[in-house]
Formats: sequence, C-alpha cells, structure tokens
Amino acid sequence: MQPYNKDLKAPVTMEVNPSPKARVHRVEWKKVMAGDPVEINPSVGSGYRVMTVEEWANRWKRNEDFPECLSCGGGRTKEHFFTQTWCRGRKHWESETLCLDCFMFNHRTYVDPDFMTPEQWEKKHWEGVATAVTR
Ligand SMILES: [Zn+2]
Repeated sequence: MQPYNKDLKAPVTMEVNPSPKARVHRVEWKKVMAGDPVEINPSVGSGYRVMTVEEWANRWKRNEDFPECLSCGGGRTKEHFFTQTWCRGRKHWESETLCLDCFMFNHRTYVDPDFMTPEQWEKKHWEGVATAVTR
C-alpha cells in the first residue's frame, strides 16, 4: 500500500482546537484540564488518578509525518487519533495530535477528490449493474 500522506491531490484540511475534535478522549481531556482524576490505563494499573497532560498522553506516539504543532510550531506532539480508509486506490484519512507545549489539538484531514467509501462505491457499482440489466 502506498503511504497515506504521499501523492495528495487536494489540500489537507487543518484545524486547531482547544479540545479534541475526534470524539475519543474528549471526556477525559475535560477532566485532565479540570484536574479531576482520570482512569488509569488498564495495562498499567487500575482506578483513577489526577494526571498531568504529559502523564495522560504518555502512551501516545508522535506522528513523524506530521510532527509540528499548527498552533505554536513546536514538535512535542502526540497522536491520539488516526484513521484511514482506502477504496480502489483512493484515500481518506484523519489524524489528530495533542501538543504538549500549548495543549492544543491539531486536526488534519484529507480526502481524495474522487474518493468514495467502500459502501458508496458498492452501491454505485450495483446501481450500474442494475441499470445495465434493465436496459
Ligand atoms: Zn503547540
């Protein structure tokens, strides 16, 4: 498979937000910011604990394709959300990173101009087949 971030045919949509745009971690982020206890990762322990942003984001990795923070330009970012969908060589992906310096979330999303989800493509394909049969 080709890399998701190469051969882009449209601009990457970029957004900076004070809270995650991706639904995942949105509730915990509010707690971290408020200084409320958050759930300890089950692989490390159990229960709840007050954590610093750095502790909370500890197990996330930096996305080396997009290391820079769109807000402060720093490079201490951690990716907490990434998804990509490929369909017939067309791609759609979404990435969100948290900056450990300014605590802003960097959201990047890209979609090929002629991208269709596998479901959309299948629907269109079968509609085409149906049309061909009725003719
Ligand atoms: Zn930053």
